[in-house]
Amino acid sequence: MSEVLVLVDHVNGTVRKTTTELLTIARRLGEPSAVFIGAGYEQATSTLAAFGAQKVYLLEQPELSDYLVAPKAEALAQLAERAQPVAILLPSDSEGKEVAGRLAIKLESGLVTDAVDVEPGEDGIPVTTQSVFAGTYTVRAAVTKGTPIITVKPNATTPEPAPAQPVEEKVEVTVSEAAKAARIVERSPRAQTGRPELTEASIVVAGGRGVGSAEGFALIEELADVLGGAVGASRAAVDAGWYPHAYQVGQTGKTVSPQLYIAAGISGAIQHRAGMQTSRTVVVVNKDPEAPIFEMADFGVVGDLHKVLPQAIEEIRRR
Ligand code: FAD
Repeated sequence: MSEVLVLVDHVNGTVRKTTTELLTIARRLGEPSAVFIGAGYEQATSTLAAFGAQKVYLLEQPELSDYLVAPKAEALAQLAERAQPVAILLPSDSEGKEVAGRLAIKLESGLVTDAVDVEPGEDGIPVTTQSVFAGTYTVRAAVTKGTPIITVKPNATTPEPAPAQPVEEKVEVTVSEAAKAARIVERSPRAQTGRPELTEASIVVAGGRGVGSAEGFALIEELADVLGGAVGASRAAVDAGWYPHAYQVGQTGKTVSPQLYIAAGISGAIQHRAGMQTSRTVVVVNKDPEAPIFEMADFGVVGDLHKVLPQAIEEIRRR
């Protein structure tokens, strides 16, 4: 069976959920080989084995993590030339997409970004599914040139464990001087909220201008907390200074793809939809029955969020 390379997304060895999703998808396409770049591998071993990595390429050279993404693209290109994988899967975050783009140029391969599903094609070439134009179209695509490079959105699949005993292989790669053009000077972790990371959360509760104030976001946070979800915000709410930009969902914010997206006091502008259109189930609370966001709602409540959300919170707490 053929290898599928999966770039491991981790923070000092703590593997992010997106990687377990990528390994689950990789198993449909071939034999997953995890590519671990950086320090902290001891922390990552059990997760990579639990989700079916048959092999782990271990790249611990400091220069791979001391600089921005260019060295990672070079490393993956050298590995791909050696391993000749059937596909390379990366997370669909800003770093994953930049590595993927640079890698595609190096390998002269086709690239698909923001896949929400990947399945094996009849000819062995993976077929991807993407949602485009703010959810207006669903596109199925297959790379026709070189090694398919695919970035996959968080929550594209439910991670399924498949215990394995991966073979570990230490790999040394050559990093060019050109790839060392920008060095990372400092990494500061974001303040911990106790909530899941927005782009990885399976439940997102987002508030918009209808929330009315920064204090009003306490209600959005409360609903997120009873559901174990993350908080998101529209640009109108962020621009008003009610919630930090790191939580903005949309074209100029984060892209989320949760199982459940609750939009409260959000009208549904195309730029907002661009960041949440692939959510599985969308629940809308809006006092205007004509608000465009209702077009994409699976469930909708026409009403004042300040009345509807406290009732929802109370009901969820009671169950
Ligand atoms: P509004 O459009 O003002 O809607 C507020 C909604 O709340 C209304 O539907 C109203 O009926 C409802 N409401 C009011 N009071 C209540 C209440 N008490 N209870 C229930 N409902 C109530 N936007 C983003 O969100 N993310 C982006 O990344 C983004 N990027 C952009 C990039 C560009 C280049 C541009 C031009 C725009 C971008 N925008 C983005 C802005 C976008 O066009 C909208 O202006 C924005 O999404 C509107 O936010 P909103 O829905 O919260 O506010």
